Amino acid sequence: MRGVVMHAPGDFRVEEREDPKILHPTDAIIRLSATCVCGSDLWPYRGAEPIEGPSPIGHEYVGVVEEVGSEVRNIKPGQFVVGAFSTSDNTCENCRAGYQTSCVQREWMNAMGAQAERLRVPLADGTLVATPGTPDEDLIPSLLTASDVLGTGWFAATAAQAGPGKTVAVVGDGAVGLLGVLAAGQLGAERIIAMSRHEPRQRLAREFGATDIVTERGDAGVARIKDLTGGYGAHSVIEAVGTQESMLQAIRATRPGGHVGYVGVSHDVTLDGQELFFSHVHLHGGPAPARQYLPHLIDLIWNRKINPGKVFDLTLPLEQAAEAYRAMDERRAIKVLLKP
Ligand SMILES: [Zn+2]
Repeated sequence: MRGVVMHAPGDFRVEEREDPKILHPTDAIIRLSATCVCGSDLWPYRGAEPIEGPSPIGHEYVGVVEEVGSEVRNIKPGQFVVGAFSTSDNTCENCRAGYQTSCVQREWMNAMGAQAERLRVPLADGTLVATPGTPDEDLIPSLLTASDVLGTGWFAATAAQAGPGKTVAVVGDGAVGLLGVLAAGQLGAERIIAMSRHEPRQRLAREFGATDIVTERGDAGVARIKDLTGGYGAHSVIEAVGTQESMLQAIRATRPGGHVGYVGVSHDVTLDGQELFFSHVHLHGGPAPARQYLPHLIDLIWNRKINPGKVFDLTLPLEQAAEAYRAMDERRAIKVLLKP
């Protein structure tokens, strides 16, 4: 089968890869209907994370089940499924508490390489959720977002305690930040401030429910959020970048007693203990338990209550994955859908 292989920063190729096989009785094999490039895939692409020899990549996927192992009970061949970006048994105490990304049996789907034609999914019964039927073609991009970026935006909004009466600020205008805007709106936030200086992303943020746009960043961005909130700062701030600047911007834009939901994969972030101590800000985040939200998000998408698939502003054949990476790296595209 064809699939993306990382060779070195900037050198990601579509090559022949070995067809996936059932390795454990809890595995499933799916044929992908769509996959995509994640903002987090840009970290190794840019050399900010090591690449250990030629290795597969990709962790966002939807498709049709072809085969299941002998111990898979609920997932059946022929079903259309959405899977989370990490595996989970959905039965251990961490899973039952809603932290499937900390499942005691967790594996990262990147290692299985979802940017490909077919994919092995471990712990199929826990990791995958079947849709009510075969989706209309136009629902597939939205269902694909539930695999990661929508679930991550949703977790960020939840961790930031977005809800009625709250002013929510969103740091980061990638797909996760934009879907954090959508999630905050769905959770009932009163006011949603998107921080972005890119016009197409500002427009999408508004479509997703942003009431205000702030173009300043860093200390100037914090000052602008304070201006807009009577000097207090936002009640809830979503951090969807993962850098020192974005994390400090998020913490400093939050009012005392407020909450930061941070989901940008942290790279070289160090926080000052005294600043945290005196901030009175709650911090919660990490790798989003996308699996927790899958049933609810699939339901919202299936019933056309939300259209998160709008974050895909470019669709390419899987064979052109290298161009997909370039387009996202150069910020020519918000998010690229790949058709196997
Ligand atoms: Zn578990």
